[in-house]
Amino acid sequence: MRLRPTLATLPSYVPGRTVPGAVKLASNETPYPPLPHVVARITEAASEINRYPDNSAAELTAVLAAKYAVGVEHVRVGCGSVSLCTQLVQALADADEQVMYAWRSFEAYPIISAVSGASSIQVPLREQVHDLDAMAEQVTGKTKLIFVCNPNNPTGTAVTRDALMRFLRAVPDDVVVALDEAYREFVTDPDVPDGMSLLPESGNLIVLRTFSKAYGLAGLRVGYAVAADPALTAALRQTQVPFAVTTVAQAAALASLEPRAERELLARVADIVRERDRVQATLLGLGYEVPASQANFVWLPLGAATTDWAAGCAERGVIVRAFAGAGARVTIGSAEENDRFLAAAAELR
Ligand code: PMP
Repeated sequence: MRLRPTLATLPSYVPGRTVPGAVKLASNETPYPPLPHVVARITEAASEINRYPDNSAAELTAVLAAKYAVGVEHVRVGCGSVSLCTQLVQALADADEQVMYAWRSFEAYPIISAVSGASSIQVPLREQVHDLDAMAEQVTGKTKLIFVCNPNNPTGTAVTRDALMRFLRAVPDDVVVALDEAYREFVTDPDVPDGMSLLPESGNLIVLRTFSKAYGLAGLRVGYAVAADPALTAALRQTQVPFAVTTVAQAAALASLEPRAERELLARVADIVRERDRVQATLLGLGYEVPASQANFVWLPLGAATTDWAAGCAERGVIVRAFAGAGARVTIGSAEENDRFLAAAAELR
């Protein structure tokens, strides 16, 4: 057997660790259990799993299309938005072509690009924020796809409408811009645009969302894309693993979009946002540097001290996500979990 040499060069995707008895603030999950109504629908759907799922997720696609007032041909459901990211790379970039993204950003981008055989152009963040002007300048004739993660994982920072509009105008029409809005529901700054509102103005834009974060369905793997150009959603169909979105996941997503469930879920988001602002303010008060977060996590750019600091948190029963040499990302949990983290952070200061 001879594996592709690329595999030996890949950074590994590091999932957040689960440690018995410790608080896990490492994977940007919601601390809330699923709504009883959603669990009931999951149970109901489980009685049908002797059959394959609807490969096109027609009902969920129709509900999402109505939610965003677009035709169903603009929407594609996927097995988590990370699967849609992968499908986009596969649909757009050939072996000698390029995928661009900011760095540091979502750690899956370099992996999915390399596995697909595409090369990566990583454009450094500027003061922890996407440098969209530099990204537009670095587009070459080989650049096929640009990920813009807004808010950015792991820094939590977000780009404004003006910056993003200038970027979309500067990028050539044949380069696809994928706006990864996995954390969109947590955005409170009115200057940060809702990507869906930009679709009518930008034919090469595709917006990615997920049910994993605000909607609390991380364990079921379901996300979606809305593209300005239906040719792109057709390409996402071609690159999808058959039956990738399970019957149970489709049912849970549909149940979560029902008005009462969605209201409850978004009320939980508002609680997380209040906690985020409290955690951020407390950390700043302790003297930590914390860029303004628009997501359900905060970023501490601790540089060389990161690994030791994260180990110190773990010793105090709090698992955070450390990016060695760069910083630590801490997910906002319940008020009690956040208190435990803040106590650890105070001791480690
Ligand atoms: N995009 C970003 C920026 C993320 O942080 C994540 C989850 N870590 C995803 C996409 C993927 O989410 P999922 O596959 O669960 O929908």
